[in-house]
Amino acid sequence: MDIAVPKEIKNHEYRVGMTPGGVRELTRAGHTVRVQTGAGEGVGFSDEQYAAAGAELVQDAGALFAGAELIIKVKEPQPEEYQRLRPGQVLFTYLHLAPDEAQTKGLLASGCTAIAYETVTDDHGGLPLLAPMSEVAGRMAVQAGAHCLEKAQGGRGVLLGGVPGVVPARVLVLGGGVVGVNAARVAMGLGADVTIFDRSLPRLTQLDALYGPAIKTQYSTADAIEAELSRADLVIGAVLIPGASAPKLVTRDMLKKLPKGAVLVDVAIDQGGCFETSKPTTHQQPTFELDGVVHYCVANMPGGVARTSTLALTNATLPFVQALANKGWRKAMQADPHLARGLNIHNGKLVYQAVAEAHNLTH
Ligand code: NAD
Repeated sequence: MDIAVPKEIKNHEYRVGMTPGGVRELTRAGHTVRVQTGAGEGVGFSDEQYAAAGAELVQDAGALFAGAELIIKVKEPQPEEYQRLRPGQVLFTYLHLAPDEAQTKGLLASGCTAIAYETVTDDHGGLPLLAPMSEVAGRMAVQAGAHCLEKAQGGRGVLLGGVPGVVPARVLVLGGGVVGVNAARVAMGLGADVTIFDRSLPRLTQLDALYGPAIKTQYSTADAIEAELSRADLVIGAVLIPGASAPKLVTRDMLKKLPKGAVLVDVAIDQGGCFETSKPTTHQQPTFELDGVVHYCVANMPGGVARTSTLALTNATLPFVQALANKGWRKAMQADPHLARGLNIHNGKLVYQAVAEAHNLTH
């Protein structure tokens, strides 16, 4: 199969859809992989590495798209990309179509088959192609929070792990899913005093069994959160209610309870944020201060560590890419109902129900 890996063109996107290691697996299986010149340069993968892995390098995006049967990307196609797609081509990438009418119309008009990373499922009810980015964001939340706690960043000047004779920082993690558990792991690793809140008792039981007394668990109620705020140094927002905006677990009024210079890291900002005072920030200007509290609300945290994120994402996507390339998309989906859930658009029709409903179209 002819597989194309374009250079991402969305603003400040440095990730790439396939590493040289992934390309090597595909070329060894007899596929042709064409990679756009410079596609991996933002994350340290040179054209020479791709060529050594068996890729053909193509300068021009138009020529790259024109010959492809399967296109592997990271971000949703931008207007100049979906105008290049045509019937018979398969696009495999993050799409997030529900709130994006222009892209949806563009993909429908192209006649291509579009498979979304974010709707592929697994046996445990999870989303295996979203999970790696949540792992990255969760771990990074503690790194960002620790930095923000420094005086020069507006924080209260507290070291997460403390030192002998000085108690460690208190970290509250709201939500014990993929982001939350990764945040808790790193915070514990640095020696912080960590409490994790969730409203799922089975989840809290699981975390308790996993980490024992190294972690404290609390059932998530407004009362329980409010009671902990006055002693918190760092609060990480990691909740998710699928299909809904994030619940506001810390209101503006509750901010008064926090010590001056405490830090809020709102990972759930991409779903509206779980602190009432959050508003989206960027890697260029990641924080703002409000009522004496430092807020970090970067909506695309994994972009800040684009190399790790590329490696993590492509580890998860490669088996699906191999199935699509080896069997063709129809047979690959017949063999794997989880991959079949990724199908969003085919032949000018929206075939993923939730997305079709969001656009008032039935399938
Ligand atoms: P997840 O589904 O694995 O976990 C969410 C957890 O929140 C679940 O355990 C759920 O029980 C819990 N929860 C729901 N309501 C709660 C409440 N009221 N109090 C306490 N816990 C509650 O989701 P995830 O993968 O960990 O993602 C968490 C959030 O992080 C999502 O909004 C996701 O989109 C976001 N995210 C953001 C970035 C970024 O760059 N900012 C990157 C990755 C993920």
